[in-house]
Amino acid sequence: ALVLVTGASGFLAAHACQTLLEKEFKVRGTVRSKEKGEYLVNLYKNSNFSYTIVPDIRPPNAFDEAVKGVDAVLHMASPFQVNVVDPEDLVRPAVQGTKGVLESIQTFNCVTIIPSVKRVIITSSIASITVPSEPGHVFTETDWNTLSADIVAREGINAPGMEKYRLSKVSAERAAWEFVDGQKPTWDLVTVCPLMIYRTIIHECASVERLNTSIAQLRVAFTPEGAKRGEDAGRQAGNWADVRDVAEIHTQALLQQKAGGNRFIAGGGPFSWQMMYDSVQAFGHIDGLDVDQLPKGTPGSDRNTVYMVTSNEKAKRELGIKFHLMGECVRDTLLSLKALGFF
Ligand code: NDP
Repeated sequence: ALVLVTGASGFLAAHACQTLLEKEFKVRGTVRSKEKGEYLVNLYKNSNFSYTIVPDIRPPNAFDEAVKGVDAVLHMASPFQVNVVDPEDLVRPAVQGTKGVLESIQTFNCVTIIPSVKRVIITSSIASITVPSEPGHVFTETDWNTLSADIVAREGINAPGMEKYRLSKVSAERAAWEFVDGQKPTWDLVTVCPLMIYRTIIHECASVERLNTSIAQLRVAFTPEGAKRGEDAGRQAGNWADVRDVAEIHTQALLQQKAGGNRFIAGGGPFSWQMMYDSVQAFGHIDGLDVDQLPKGTPGSDRNTVYMVTSNEKAKRELGIKFHLMGECVRDTLLSLKALGFF
């Protein structure tokens, strides 16, 4: 089967393409330039990989050519940035890119009598799920972020960057489900909601400024200047995911018929930087890293932390996912940053 992966040059998408190729899918990636496409051709060295250029996901019809003849679509292209001023700079590409790819599928993948697309997977985010909650609430796929739209409507360009991003993701995911409700297409939809994703960087990343947002945050937390100390180290920093698990969830969501019509939270669970520091120190020795020189935070500072928890039970139960451990994920992220000279 031929799978279209949009935004193939991104951190997660480069791994998703690799996982699909390992499972012997044919993959067509969309990239913004020939250079990014050729980088991936050299990376995979697999004749089942090809690319097509979609310079911008915002204009209508952007995906008309890309969707022709594909059997499934993984829509991953979306800006993940938290330093924009105008919220529309995130919301517009997220929503229009999502609607645009679905419209192109409806129009151009259905030109044959039997449309070939069977399943569309939209990479959403935990940003589409969580809102501030009572301690003890465990977030599942039935929860929706109903807050970011209000915050951004009220505060406009002064809204926190993360809320602007969260709004872009929840708006895009809602648009996808509304599209399916309204159009009743022949294919079905799955949305995957990853937590903050880490591990090895395999996509082209020419400079530290170009690191994707999640990895960039981990890098800073492991530098002497950015390391968290005291209580800060023990506070919840977010919820984490291993990119191998997130790629596998997308792949299983393609392979398993029963996944259709579902959302899946993708990731390990909550973390504080203290947890991450401890998880690396627990190795004692790591070839290629001076473990003793890495930040140690304030051991014990997370002892009383009450975490905002997301459940990954549905992905385990319905897709058979076995999640990796935090220590390996953090170790491999650091090794990868080191290999690129960014750490
Ligand atoms: P990256 O920034 O590495 O990848 C984003 C991709 O989207 C890149 O290929 C980028 O192209 C492309 N893109 C962005 N805007 C446009 C546009 N206007 N036109 C064309 N292409 C565009 O991010 P990640 O790999 O981290 O994220 C991938 C997906 O996963 C996103 O949907 C993100 O929201 C989601 N996600 C990520 C999480 C994380 O922790 N990383 C957590 C939860 C969800 P280019 O490379 O040319 O810039």
